[in-house]
Amino acid sequence: MSRICYVNGDYVAEEDAKISVFDRGFLFADGVYEVTSVLGGKLIDFDGHATRLSRSLSELAMPSPVTRDELLDIHRELVTRNGIEEGLVYLQITRGAADRDFAYPTDAAPGIVLFTQTKTLIESPAARAGIRIVSLPDARWGRRDIKTVQLLYPSMAKMEAKAQGADDAWMVEDGHVTEGTSNNAYIVKGSTIVTRQLGTEILAGITRNAVLRFAREAQMKVEERAFTVEEAESADEAFVTSATTFVQPVVSINGSEIGDGTPGPVARRLREIYIEESRKAGI
Ligand code: PLP
Repeated sequence: MSRICYVNGDYVAEEDAKISVFDRGFLFADGVYEVTSVLGGKLIDFDGHATRLSRSLSELAMPSPVTRDELLDIHRELVTRNGIEEGLVYLQITRGAADRDFAYPTDAAPGIVLFTQTKTLIESPAARAGIRIVSLPDARWGRRDIKTVQLLYPSMAKMEAKAQGADDAWMVEDGHVTEGTSNNAYIVKGSTIVTRQLGTEILAGITRNAVLRFAREAQMKVEERAFTVEEAESADEAFVTSATTFVQPVVSINGSEIGDGTPGPVARRLREIYIEESRKAGI
């Protein structure tokens, strides 16, 4: 049975889920997206994703084709129709179809597309074993705080990491780590968790926000500041966070083992807390 997707007001079989070749998402990457995870059939941190979506849209002067409540209904309907117990809902809004022109069109109606993916999130082998990271230059544009669909450089960086025998890359600008290709980056020094402060250089991860809150509630010390690759290589622990990986330990950076080369206690504890709290708060 094929999945049911949502396209501009209609629930359609994936074979029939189609948009125009003139869509500016396709021609200019003129679009934004969100990925919300699903655990036990419930949406995790929907409010955070909806709030960040509104901000991304407003930074690009793009009107939303749906209200927040409609968006929640569509997410839930897709989870139900596709029987998603564990996985994700992908949402994309683009400026719509118009004659090709660099200026934003005044007459285009924004388009909205959602689909689901079943995915094993909790029993992930990468979470159990930890992942290997290499550092690469951050060659993305300067507004990484907007969650746009222009993901080619992160995709190239991930391929380069794999070519070097690693699992993922941390990107580096002016000697400091910005973030992972599709996640936020953290190191642990002694009992302090260090992660880059928010700004236009990184995406304000919804998982980051929750994990830092849980860490502080558990009396862990958090420093939001930029850190260097050298600091990371000699850290006691490292990890990444994102909606679909939760908290994932990092066990090596540029071939240097982190700690004893196995997932560290802070990352493991934060992963447990995040999953436990998310299950409770899912809607
Ligand atoms: N940073 C980047 C560049 C990302 O692409 C993502 C997620 O896709 C994140 C951070 C983590 O954000 P979130 O926790 O909201 O999934």
